Amino acid sequence: MDELERERTISAEEEVRIAAVAFETQEGMLVTNARGVILRVNQAFTRLTGYAAAEVIGRGLDLLFSGRHDAVFHEQMWQALREKGDWQGETWHRYKNGKIHAEWLVLTAVRSETGMVSHYVGNFTRINANAEAAIHYLAYCDPLTHLPNRSLLLDRLSQALASSARSGRHGAVLFLDLDLDSLKTLNDSRGLALGDALLVEVAQRLQRVVREGDTISRLDETISRMGGDEFVLLLENLSLEAPEAAAQARQVAEKVREVLSQSYDLDGLEYHCAAHLGVTLFCGREASVDGLLKQAGLALYRARDEGGDGLCFFDPAMQTALDERNALMADLRWALQRGQFQLYYQAQVDAGARVVGAEALLRWLHPQRGLVPPGDFMPLAEETGLILPIGLWALEAACAQIRSWARTPATRDLRLSVNLSVRQFRQADFVAEVEQILHATGADPSRLRIEVGGSMVLDDVNDAYTKMHALKSLGIGFSLDDFGVGNSSLSYLTRLPLDQVKINRRFVHGLPGQRNDAIIAKTIIAMAAGLGLSVIAEGVESDAQRAFLASHHCHAYQGYLFSRPLSLPEFETFLRGAEESP
Ligand code: C2E
Ligand code: CA
Repeated sequence: MDELERERTISAEEEVRIAAVAFETQEGMLVTNARGVILRVNQAFTRLTGYAAAEVIGRGLDLLFSGRHDAVFHEQMWQALREKGDWQGETWHRYKNGKIHAEWLVLTAVRSETGMVSHYVGNFTRINANAEAAIHYLAYCDPLTHLPNRSLLLDRLSQALASSARSGRHGAVLFLDLDLDSLKTLNDSRGLALGDALLVEVAQRLQRVVREGDTISRLDETISRMGGDEFVLLLENLSLEAPEAAAQARQVAEKVREVLSQSYDLDGLEYHCAAHLGVTLFCGREASVDGLLKQAGLALYRARDEGGDGLCFFDPAMQTALDERNALMADLRWALQRGQFQLYYQAQVDAGARVVGAEALLRWLHPQRGLVPPGDFMPLAEETGLILPIGLWALEAACAQIRSWARTPATRDLRLSVNLSVRQFRQADFVAEVEQILHATGADPSRLRIEVGGSMVLDDVNDAYTKMHALKSLGIGFSLDDFGVGNSSLSYLTRLPLDQVKINRRFVHGLPGQRNDAIIAKTIIAMAAGLGLSVIAEGVESDAQRAFLASHHCHAYQGYLFSRPLSLPEFETFLRGAEESP
């Protein structure tokens, strides 16, 4: 071997030493056997992953892979190694501390002289910290406000529950949204950019509140944007005592409201918007992450609903009320099919106490709850739209009753009043529907009186006008139900084909003693007389009320003084009794 040749050769012993040094580079390295069992790792591996050699040797390569890779990923990786002898790609490794990092992994197969794979050598480098941050950012941050997004909040919230369970300290979830229309109006009228600018400014103000608030500087907090105009603040390390913790949360909430209510300068446009906040407290793991967000959401819902100071705390009674409401709603969906509705009849009497008609009032005969009054289910029916089929049923049942009463002389002259919901009245084919019902039941339209509310008419006076005149021409009568309440106005009274005005029981209640009620009642009677309409007072409970109304020439009465709303058999018995005792 000449000099040159000697310079170019490495002895077997030298080769081992060199390999050992090469193995200890800055990159994480590992050697596995043909089945992927780890045989060796270098120091960089330990430094990066936190695993000592002894902790990983003998374990499968899978130990490193976080759950983010699916079966297809693993299959493709092993297939490439078998067929091409190497594989490289981005992998997500779970380090010993549980954190997941993006890595670039290169795996190379080492073959024996016979060509069989004896080992795999792997080396990996952390993907550029910036790139990793970017990936993390996309997954966990709201790109507009740079606040944590919903996923990150859920993560933090579950950590917060664990830490509260350890420390015994309370935490709070503050759910906030901007005045419902603010964002939409802004987006609609001034373009999306301004809406975005508003959200960014809101985010900045929220950060300032938690950063600068002196009283709360000891707290840990997370502010996140849930989407749209909804933000959530998570407060940790509040007091050990619930009342004090509630006070701390309230303080932050009030500060937030105050700061957000200050005017905004959006590209020269001065803008104001209010925020509503729903707050719920937690301690330990009593409630789940989902449960807490629901609670805060519920409180927010109430804060929005109630007006007031725009701030509401969740309380368990609220949850119970909601559960109850949901149960009732579920039952209501079936009530019609199951034939659980009934009409009750409340007598209407004339000046001489003769029964001249009745108001049909809906009752829900619930198998467990008993008789449910409309006040308890009408709002649900309105909300779900079930009011349409239910209202239709009531109208049909009333018409069928008119037809049935027509067969007997004692009842054939009764007028039956039926209540109508705004939604029913707004239906485009309402008139045709009524015609169809009259036709199907054979009811005499002149015995039917529809009670309309003032707001129903005012909503769309022209539509009301057209429909009422069409129904009037069929022979149907109209009574104005809640005159004097809310928006009633004189002008439409003269335009609409009304027959009767009802004095609301609110004004009857204070008669004869309360001056205001007395003035209103007298005025309504006088006005009706001037317009040639009849008047009926509802909610008449005492003789003194009736006497006062009679002295001012009221024509008709309805109320507990004469009869409560009665089931059909009860009402018919009542009618016979009224006949016998003139
Ligand atoms: P409303 O039209 O104002 O009905 C009169 C309400 O006053 C009835 O309550 C009746 O039971 C009650 N009332 C009658 N006399 C007296 C009295 O002397 N004193 C007092 N304090 N109250 C009296 P109810 O039956 O609970 O009905 C509540 C509301 O539900 C009705 O108010 C009406 O708006 C609605 N409603 C009832 N039936 C129907 C229906 O078939 N369709 C529609 N759309 N709404 C209905
Ligand atoms: Ca009524």
